[in-house]
This record gives sequence, structure tokens and C-alpha cells, in this order.
Amino acid sequence: MTEAESEPSRLPVRIKRGSSFARAYGGNAGRRGEPLGSGCLRGYFLRVSRAYRPRGAPNEGEGVTDIQQAVPSARSAGRGFRAYSAKHLDTLVQRAGLPPEERLAVRAVATVLPFRTNSYVVEHLIDWDAAPDDPIYRLVFPQPDMLPEADVRRLADMIDRGEPAAGLRAAAHEIRMRLNPHPAGQLLLNPPSLQGRPLPGLQHKYQETVLFFPRQGQTCHAYCSYCFRWAQFVDEPDLKMATDDIGTLVAYLREHPEVTSVLITGGDPLIMGEVVLRRYIEPLIDPRNGLDHIESIRLGTKSLAYWPQRFVTDPDADDTLRLFGEVIASGRNLAVMAHFSHPRELEPPVLAEAVRRIRDTGAVIRTQAPLIRSINDDPAAWRQMWRTQVRMGMIPYYMFVERDTGPQDYFAVPLARGYDIFRQAYQGVSGLARTVRGPSMSATPGKVCVDGVTEVAGIKVFVLHMIQARDPSLVGSPFFARFDPAACWLTDLEPVFADRFPFEPARYETVPDELPGLWPSEPDEPGELMVPAI
Ligand code: SF4
Repeated sequence: MTEAESEPSRLPVRIKRGSSFARAYGGNAGRRGEPLGSGCLRGYFLRVSRAYRPRGAPNEGEGVTDIQQAVPSARSAGRGFRAYSAKHLDTLVQRAGLPPEERLAVRAVATVLPFRTNSYVVEHLIDWDAAPDDPIYRLVFPQPDMLPEADVRRLADMIDRGEPAAGLRAAAHEIRMRLNPHPAGQLLLNPPSLQGRPLPGLQHKYQETVLFFPRQGQTCHAYCSYCFRWAQFVDEPDLKMATDDIGTLVAYLREHPEVTSVLITGGDPLIMGEVVLRRYIEPLIDPRNGLDHIESIRLGTKSLAYWPQRFVTDPDADDTLRLFGEVIASGRNLAVMAHFSHPRELEPPVLAEAVRRIRDTGAVIRTQAPLIRSINDDPAAWRQMWRTQVRMGMIPYYMFVERDTGPQDYFAVPLARGYDIFRQAYQGVSGLARTVRGPSMSATPGKVCVDGVTEVAGIKVFVLHMIQARDPSLVGSPFFARFDPAACWLTDLEPVFADRFPFEPARYETVPDELPGLWPSEPDEPGELMVPAI
């Protein structure tokens, strides 16, 4: 399969070097493709960012820059962390040279999907000369065409007319419900129960691993535009997974000796200060709690990319690292599951210092990210990321496929192309970086890896295997699917050489219909439903 053969056939991502509006008003207004008047604006912003500090400056907390005066933002006590939210969005996107109608469309998208970023990302990671095409800009800023055009137009009209917030909220809710807010059956299939009581804020999908969503960790230092957990961050309490009941987690783990690993996740648990983080971690390592079978604690985080100061200059950085050391001293593995989307996130010296300090505690850093169209759909980007990570002492772990939620149509890379990118990147790294797995789909039945594209008995097929599975007996199972150059997700695939995939129930199995919509397959006969074995 060549890259050309596997060119995506889904919705095109619009990469603009200046919109038609901007081109029409180019001239001497600013750089090529900018709208009238933006030259002054851009000049202002460039002056600001260049005069302030080079990318990767170690201490974000010193002083207040011109841009921070222009775009006032919330400030976390003592951290020097400055957050930008939807109320700053219009001012910030002006800096990318977007004309008014596109800025309005961006605001419309941000009524449905969450937006948040911070001054470190804005001032040290984004290349504003390349915005709006810059990958880090696209990583955090909503794009005008991330949602169906009719929805964006409707919301933009409502904003333009100054409709009351309640009307906008209702329209946004209706659109969100169409975006599969909890993919892979997260709310329906994963929450465990204890003595018949459901445990919200916990997920137990794979035998060995329990996920814990601490209430105070359900936000991030910045939000990724492609986020698969976007439902955690919007104003929809019914969609959120969270708990602050660590006692219940301990009780559940005591009853489940098969669990060896706890993943504390979010959002981003490292948004929590050390005092709160300790409240969740200490009970897991306290010998009085009888959790000897817990061999590892994982922290799913993007703080290394979005706010590395968390481990270097924040007031509780040292205490946090001491806590990491206590986990190691308890005889457990502490894994920081670091999300890096682009090689530029690895450049700042403050990140190198954060990595060094974390590794000094004995914790390991494993790296992962989804493959995202227009942000990192390039073998060179992954090769560079994996090589740099190994050089810094991190362990490449996963390349994920963008999940079937939110703006998936906008960011998805077809599986065939994703496999090409993975393979080309993999060919250019040493064995030390070949710890990475992928491209992997975190789907309803488990983690499914695309191992290749080949021909068997004259039929072009995908070769796949299950890295993880709800049904432990399926872990490691290989299987085939008919090749489809446009397929972006497991549910786009059809079995070949068999009448079903290994994780599907036998045909003609009749079951109750409490779990509709899990599989795209229609019943063969009226009254027969196919559901996964769970
Ligand atoms: S860091 Fe993770 S949870 Fe947070 S916005 Fe990005 S993808 Fe979502």
C-alpha cells in the first residue's frame, strides 16, 4: 500500500494559507493572505512574543507580557500559570489572521466543543507565523469546519443575533448528543459495581487494569481540539465520569486481586496540586490497605507537553516528585503516561528538565498520542518524536487511531494511511524505540492493532490483532478484515475468511436488546440481535 493509494476519502481538512477573504484583502495589510488591518495586529503580537522570551523559557511565572495585558486571563495562585478560555478566544484567533466570519465560526464550534489553553502554549509552542496551519495552533484552537457546516452556520447565526445563552446551550446540547460523547461503551459497559452498587468514576474494562477519574482532575492545562474525552469538559453534568471516593476504589481493589494496575486519569490528574494528588495515591500504597497485588500506578497526563513547569518551578513541584518517590519506595512501578502530539512539544529546555526530574524519582515515562490529520499525520513527525523521547529516557508506547467521537470525521486518518505512517516512522528508529505499538484502536471489544496490509488467496486484507480485550481469552488474537482504503475505525471493517470477528458473538445468538447500537451489524432475521460477548 503506497501513501497515494491510501489517500483519505473522508471529509477534506481545510488547510488555509489565508482564506479567500484574506486573499482578497492581502496587499500591504500584512503578510500574504491576511485580512485588512491585520498587519498592525500581527505586528503587535509578534513584537509581544519575540520581545518577551524565546520558546521554552524555563520560568513562565516571571513578569507579565504585553499579550497577557491584552488578553487578561485567570491566574492560578502561585503557579504563574495563566489560562485562556472561550472568553479570550476571539482575541487570540485574531492573532492567526482569521477574518471576522471565520472567527465567528470558531466561536460557534467552541459552544459545542471545549476550548482552553494557556500562556505557555500560546507564547512558547505555537508558531504564529504559520498559524492557522501551525500544528500546535491546530492542536488547541477549534477549527471553523470541525463540525457539520449546517450546525456551525446555525450556531454562528445565533451568536450573531445575540440569542440568549439558554438557546445556544440547547442547540449545543443537541449537536453534542450526535457526537458519540462516550465511545467504546464507556458509560454503559465499563463502570464496575461493588455489592450491587454502581461505581461512577471508575472503569474496569480489562481484567488487570482499573481506571480512576478523580473529580479534581477532570480538566487539563489546555484542551486538545481532537480530545476523545471532550465530554468531561463541557457543561453537561450527565456526561461526566468522576469521583472523589478513594475509599470505594480501595474497597473495590481489595475484592479484585486480578487487578494489578491502577490508571489515574482524566482530564489530567496532574492538574491537581500535590495535596489532593496525595489524597488519592497514598491509600493505594499504604500497606494497611492490603493492596499488595497493585503492581503499578499510572498517571495519564499531558502536563509535560502543556505545562512542564508542573515538575520544575510550581510551588508543589518538589512535593509532587517526593510523592512519586514514595510510590517507587513502596515497591511499585510508577508510570507517567505522557501524551505528546508533536515533536515541537519536546523542544523546550523546561520540558527536558521536567523529564530529568521525574526520572530521578525512579518513575518511568511512557509516551503516547493519537494519529491526527493535519497535526501529526507525517512519518517524519513520529520518527522524530520517538527518537527524541528515547534520547531523553522516555519509552515510546502507543500510536492510537483517533477515536469515534467528537470531530472524528475532521481529524481521522484512514487505517491504511495510518499503518503506512506508522511503518515508515518505525523503519527509521532503533530497536529501543520499537517499544511503540500501533496504530491501535481503543474500541468497544478492546485495543485492536493494525499489523499490516497484505494479500491472502488473492484478496487484499488488513491484518489485525487484539492487544487488549474485554474477554481476556482474546488477548493476542490475530484476525483479518477486508481491505477498505477509506475505513477509519473498527466498525468500518468487515470480516474476511470468517463470518464474524473473534470478539463478536456466534451468529444467531439471541439475546436481550438492552445494549442497542454497539455493532453496526443488522440482525439477519427479525428478532435476532448480535451483541458482543461481555
Ligand atoms: S490532554 Fe487528553 S484529556 Fe486533556 S484535552 Fe488533551 S486529549 Fe483530552
